[in-house]
Amino acid sequence: MSRNLQSDMGIYQELGLQDVIVATGNFTELGGSLMPEEVLEAMQVAARSFVNIQALHERAGQVIADLTGAEAGYVTSGAAAGLVLGTAACMTGSNPAAIHQLPDTDGLKNEIVIHKAHSNNYNRMFRLAGAKVKEVGYGAHRTLPWQLESALDERTAAIVYVVAQFLVSQTALPLPEVLRIARAKGVPVIVDAANELPPVENLRKFIEMGADLVIFSGGKDLQGPQPSGFICGRRDLIEACALNGAPNHGIGRPMKVGKEEIVGLVAALKRYVRLDHQARIARWERQISLIVDGLSDIERLRVSRVFPDYTGRPVPRAWLTWDEETVSRSKQEVLDALAKGSPIIRVLEEYAGKGLLIDPSTLLAGQEAIIVERLRTIFAG
Ligand SMILES: *Cc1c(COP(=O)(O)O)cnc(C)c1O
Repeated sequence: MSRNLQSDMGIYQELGLQDVIVATGNFTELGGSLMPEEVLEAMQVAARSFVNIQALHERAGQVIADLTGAEAGYVTSGAAAGLVLGTAACMTGSNPAAIHQLPDTDGLKNEIVIHKAHSNNYNRMFRLAGAKVKEVGYGAHRTLPWQLESALDERTAAIVYVVAQFLVSQTALPLPEVLRIARAKGVPVIVDAANELPPVENLRKFIEMGADLVIFSGGKDLQGPQPSGFICGRRDLIEACALNGAPNHGIGRPMKVGKEEIVGLVAALKRYVRLDHQARIARWERQISLIVDGLSDIERLRVSRVFPDYTGRPVPRAWLTWDEETVSRSKQEVLDALAKGSPIIRVLEEYAGKGLLIDPSTLLAGQEAIIVERLRTIFAG
């Protein structure tokens, strides 16, 4: 394993914090992701000279455009900021009076239409820009095309379409159908694909399908700076994002990215498209087989490999379920026992509520053995 993946907890221990093994995939509250050496180096170099930020944003946007196939791109302080700026852009365009007016949206197109089945904590980002949220569909049951069609009117700023594995009921209309309905009404579609890497092909997929704007997180599988991400898509809308964002004094001014983050995100993106993704998957597969094999003899515990996840991301994971009555351990007790040990181990609660998942994409080499050992102790006791 290369040096850049070694965990050096010294600085956190000095602050009285414990080591954490992250077997959940990338979560902001667990530190997001670890930056590889070439990203860290790019940020260090960037930190040593002044630069015109506007011009740097333009050059970085060009790299994003080239690697996503979009007309234009813009670096944001995370995908959540991309949702704020994308929403703002669809409300204001490049009209300086409208940009100045936000978050007051009187007289502007100011509704974000979203499937009820897609609504999540990040809906607040639309309201932060001043938009109102209009939900469509029957939620977990289903959504009918007329429900989306009839929700679009002269107040609609954009449709936001969320692609995320945490959406357990994938009952929204398929994206191609949403794009067709939106186009007929002249409404832009923003795709929140923040966590939809891997596969690397997704960098281009939603743009190719015809989405007007697509948002990715830089601090998840891209392994860029934690407070980074990008938005890409139609040139006029990306220009409007930039006008609303720092260093301009729009609604996005407090969501600025520094030169270090801009350069770091670009380095991470360039690295990501060159990575040997098959080799990464093969490494994850080895870690998952070690976990599945290491736990297979525990009576009453069912362990299997699941692949892919709800949105088709190619990450093999170990899935643990057991009968809480016969094993006399609730899911919460197991989560607590993992979180209270040293090092702390964090695994994922399966979103549909059935057992626990171990995601290897954030594991360092060898940590799978520590997880097996801890789970054997928990289930033996
Ligand atoms: C993680 C995530 C975000 C936020 O991404 P940040 O880069 O942390 O701001 C937004 N939407 C979805 C679906 C996500 O998974």
